[in-house]
Amino acid sequence: MQAFDTDILIAGGGLAGATLALAVCRLVPGYRVTVVEAFPLPEDPAPTDYQPSYDARSTALSWGARRIFEQLDLWSAISRQAAPIRHIHISEKGRFGVTRLASEEHRQPALGYVADNRWLGLCLMDALREQPAIRWLAPAQAESVTTLREGVRVGIRQAEEAFTLTSRCLVVADGGRSGLREDLGIAVHQQDYGQYALIANVSTERPHGGTAWERFTERGPMALLPQVSGPEPGHRSALVWTLSPEDLDDVLALDEAGRCARLQQVFGWRLGRFTRFGDCHHYPLSLITADECVRPGVALVGNAAHALHPVAGQGFNLALRGLMALVEAFRFARDNDLSPGDLTVLSRYRQQHAPDQQQTIGFSDSLVRLFGDEYPVIGAARNAGLVGLDILPAAKHWFARRAMGVTGGGSARQPSDRDREHWQ
Ligand SMILES: Cc1cc2nc3c(=O)[nH]c(=O)nc-3n(C[C@H](O)[C@H](O)[C@H](O)COP(=O)(O)OP(=O)(O)OC[C@H]3O[C@@H](n4cnc5c(N)ncnc54)[C@H](O)[C@@H]3O)c2cc1C
Repeated sequence: MQAFDTDILIAGGGLAGATLALAVCRLVPGYRVTVVEAFPLPEDPAPTDYQPSYDARSTALSWGARRIFEQLDLWSAISRQAAPIRHIHISEKGRFGVTRLASEEHRQPALGYVADNRWLGLCLMDALREQPAIRWLAPAQAESVTTLREGVRVGIRQAEEAFTLTSRCLVVADGGRSGLREDLGIAVHQQDYGQYALIANVSTERPHGGTAWERFTERGPMALLPQVSGPEPGHRSALVWTLSPEDLDDVLALDEAGRCARLQQVFGWRLGRFTRFGDCHHYPLSLITADECVRPGVALVGNAAHALHPVAGQGFNLALRGLMALVEAFRFARDNDLSPGDLTVLSRYRQQHAPDQQQTIGFSDSLVRLFGDEYPVIGAARNAGLVGLDILPAAKHWFARRAMGVTGGGSARQPSDRDREHWQ
């Protein structure tokens, strides 16, 4: 029988790769895991050139994501700096329709949570450092893959050294522009939205009160997510503002006061005056889906499998459910004496994750399209839709459940009555 250097090699130690490494060690112990990450690991205080996954963004974590982090014994650490979302307010600039979702209507303490990506990275690294079964190669690049009769051989470069490692299974977690996916010849379906997401932390005169604001404008959607960290807790929100390339250039050319004024025009006065506009970062937006998410010896996860428009805050939440499906497949392999790279094992992951992926992408993409349309008739229908959503409890409940991440597949089980009693 062939000897392998490792059982599971995870290429990319970003949010998806690092969470998977922890999930494998905590939930299906026994596997040897190697993580190859191109950047140095996140530290506190942060070096200036920190890892892209743990950058200045914040992530809206669904209720389902909380359940998953609880299973990984990581939620108590994350929750120390996670802002609960108690209300979601959805509106459209210049139109009447408004929809409000409230956690109490769904008998939950929160509809979701907001955590800084950097904080998520620090919590993950703290937990991973304690795992003797994980070997970290960072900074190091996974550069190439060769499929073997069983398993894979991965070409790695670390500093000046180039070497190969064999593994029973390769998990490709190197992000939306995945080099390994390309090396494997896996085609993608890519659709550019022709927009950028500008992100920044902003402060407001009035406290956010745990409300996440989703606002659709004729130039693109924006979201303001409540934050707990920072110098003005309760008054600071994470802005995700979708802009055309020209509008992005205009905003970037403004000084802080000008940016606050421009945001005020678009968002309005519900939170009073915008008083601070922090450092800006921007990301080109496209929908990328890999045509294949498994092959013998290989599985794609996270953004390498699917990168979404951030409007509905679903990308990482979807990735998490996929990771749990993959962990379940690895459990099946371990219990049945199969290789984790066996196609029958990896097909279980695909079968469970594919319908969730399709539905979540459909939900996010249709939000972008529905609100991206400028025809007045569609605008009126949309208006009726938002008002209707506020009036029709069933539709609103459906929307809230999707936002909370409890409708998809994966093992993010829904809260039971016992949980509810406990959290109330
Ligand atoms: C503006 C914005 C806002 C978002 N907001 C939300 C939100 O609110 N909620 C939500 O659920 N999702 C959100 N998302 C999506 C979320 O950020 C992604 O789903 C998540 O970052 C995916 O993580 P990943 O680990 O798959 O990929 P990445 O974050 O891209 O990480 C890939 C990792 O692989 C490493 N790497 C790359 N190439 C190699 C190589 N050859 N060898 C070794 N390592 C390599 C990189 O250094 C990196 O660490 C948002 C996205 C954007 C752009």
